[in-house]
Amino acid sequence: MSKTASTFKAKSTIKAGNLDHRRKINFNISKYNAVVPQGKVQFDNLVAAREHAKNVKWQAIEKLDVMLEQFENNISMRGAKVIWAETAEDALREIGNICKAKNCKTLVKSKSMVTEEIHLNKFLAKHGIDSIETDLGEYIQQLDEEPPYHIVTPAMHKSKEDVAKLFAEKLNVPAGLSPQQLTLVARERLRKKYVEAEVGVTGANFLIADTGSISVTENEGNARLSSAFPKTHIVITGIEKILPSINDLSLFLPLLATFGTGQKLTVYNTIISGPRQKNETDGPEEMYVILLDNGRTNLLANPKTREALYCIRCGACLNACPVYKNIGGHSYDTTYSGPIGSVITPHLKNLKAYKHLSYASSLCGNCTEVCPVRINLHELLLENRYESVVEGDSSVSERVAWKLWKQASLHRSMMNISNGSLKNKVVNSLFKGWTNHRADLNFSQKTFNEMWKERKQ
Ligand code: SF4
Repeated sequence: MSKTASTFKAKSTIKAGNLDHRRKINFNISKYNAVVPQGKVQFDNLVAAREHAKNVKWQAIEKLDVMLEQFENNISMRGAKVIWAETAEDALREIGNICKAKNCKTLVKSKSMVTEEIHLNKFLAKHGIDSIETDLGEYIQQLDEEPPYHIVTPAMHKSKEDVAKLFAEKLNVPAGLSPQQLTLVARERLRKKYVEAEVGVTGANFLIADTGSISVTENEGNARLSSAFPKTHIVITGIEKILPSINDLSLFLPLLATFGTGQKLTVYNTIISGPRQKNETDGPEEMYVILLDNGRTNLLANPKTREALYCIRCGACLNACPVYKNIGGHSYDTTYSGPIGSVITPHLKNLKAYKHLSYASSLCGNCTEVCPVRINLHELLLENRYESVVEGDSSVSERVAWKLWKQASLHRSMMNISNGSLKNKVVNSLFKGWTNHRADLNFSQKTFNEMWKERKQ
């Protein structure tokens, strides 16, 4: 078993038995479940809307090269500089060069999973740059020195009491503050940083090909401040975020809001098409857009897994997943957790080291059911399992066990060779890994042939 797999097993075993964790997660996800139906009522025909969204993403991903070049040409005409980064190291090097050129000491950053993926904060700290998370959830996680727990709600596993305790410890404020007071404390500290920072970093929820724009969606206004106040704005985004037309936002913004947080529309939706223009009074002097591959073209190369690139990172599949709800976001030890994380991480990183995630699923299909762009997540988990077997990543005992199983299934005489008790003994000792965390397999005492004969008598 790989080191990543044994860490995952150990962490998830501990978390699954932590009742306090379960209580907090169930509470927070129940609030989400209560509001999502309210957001859905805005769609006359939700099935058709989701199907249309899937078709738009299909079109965008099938023509990804053309779309990205169109985006690059259009945003470059308005003065933004587009940088193509094949790996996380390439992206970090480019950001490092920009920060050096701007003599950056302080950087403000809005919520971005891609910056988590490339470990930007760690890199900046190494180069003496103070990187401040400005999204409240991310700010809480940064104070606690923890990665985000969830792709949309980074501090979902913390109660309001946990956050009050953390603020009292780290920020020297009175203990037991209310959520409103805590928000004000964060706001007061963060506001100063926007004007101090030389560089602001944001992600992009969508890249728009026909206008050459980025679309950023948020509830706190911190992404607007992070992109508008500093003189230099760096956008870092995965190449799969492309949409063909600005008109597509009329469908994708409500879909993302509803499936992400149950809102009809997120509070702030910003479209940025370049740095400050000559006739404009505000905005950054320079804008860079870093288009990151970092393994996404591995997903693109396989016509089946390509579908995973339709993801709009709404987080709905995490909230719906019985495995995620039991083991939590940190057990995965990956940037992207839950069903979508289990589908894409083996391709973004390494199939052998992360194949275990594709087995951490009951294949109930609830993730596929809730996905706004109708990605067949549970089938993609099966595809990952298939690929890992084809690549020879399964253990010898697993291969032997399945060979025996196949022979027995194909030969009725072998199935009839012994009674249920013997079969239970043999199979449960062969599939030891399976039965460590599950009940033993329990065969019928009589064979099918015996029961059939009895029935005919
Ligand atoms: S896979 Fe679907 S449900 Fe999961 S985060 Fe992506 S868009 Fe949302």
